[in-house]
Amino acid sequence: MKLAIAGATGRMGQSIVRLAAQEGFSIVGALASPQSPHLGRDVGEVAGAGILGVAIGDDVASALLGADVVIDFSRPEALSRVLTVARRKNVAVVSGTTRLDADTEKKLDEASATIPVLWAPNTSLGVQVLAEIVAEAVRRLGLGFDVEIVETHHKAKVDSPSGTATRLADAARDARKGLRTVTGREGNVGPRAADEIGVFAVRGGDVIGDHTVHLLGPGERLELTHRATNRDLFARGALRAARYLFGKPAGRYSMADVLG
Ligand code: NAD
Repeated sequence: MKLAIAGATGRMGQSIVRLAAQEGFSIVGALASPQSPHLGRDVGEVAGAGILGVAIGDDVASALLGADVVIDFSRPEALSRVLTVARRKNVAVVSGTTRLDADTEKKLDEASATIPVLWAPNTSLGVQVLAEIVAEAVRRLGLGFDVEIVETHHKAKVDSPSGTATRLADAARDARKGLRTVTGREGNVGPRAADEIGVFAVRGGDVIGDHTVHLLGPGERLELTHRATNRDLFARGALRAARYLFGKPAGRYSMADVLG
């Protein structure tokens, strides 16, 4: 299978490029922003072999040339362009880019009519299992238990709260219809209505990503936690998703499908 990587010079992109090369994928193209420091050098160094060149900014067509699957960890505006070209060139898309606007969300759906598309705000297998456990716990515990989510990330993270925290809130809300999500930064604590899920973002240091879902009931509480200790876990999940998507019919897929 031939891979292209969008966001190849980023924190995630570099991890994906390195692991993909180790796992024997052939990387035929890469896309990065013209603002990326040490462009080509970073990608060339981490890949070791296989990358034919780094396309810059708008030149998505060159980056995707000859690829079967593109893995995208970039920014919503770049993903939007990747989707347009991937549709035209019949390239499957795995994307972990977070904080998508409504237009990009719509493009994911539209593209899935033509090509296989998997978007996941967290590509770790553990978070997928956590979301399933949260849904089960909320269903079983029922009314009388409040749901609060606390996420902690490194201070360079651009979005807040994380896409994963939003995903976990969605899982809780779907399990108990009627819950609403309210988001805030650390310390922004006010009285919480019974139907509200509080989502809090803490930023600092080099934390890769911690998520704790608190289920708070009368006289007892559950704390369900996932901690990422290495960025490679997201990369491994994305590569597993790429393998899963290769040769699949057009449609929307999720990490739940990859886990089986
Ligand atoms: P980063 O800032 O380190 O890297 C971003 C990459 O995107 C760089 O290569 C940059 O050159 C490229 N890029 C940015 N704008 C571009 C443009 N307009 N055109 C082409 N390329 C462009 O970011 P990161 O920490 O690697 O995270 C990237 C994305 O992945 C973020 O949305 C982040 O929230 C998300 N993320 C998702 C998961 C997951 O499991 N789904 C895990 C970690 C990060």
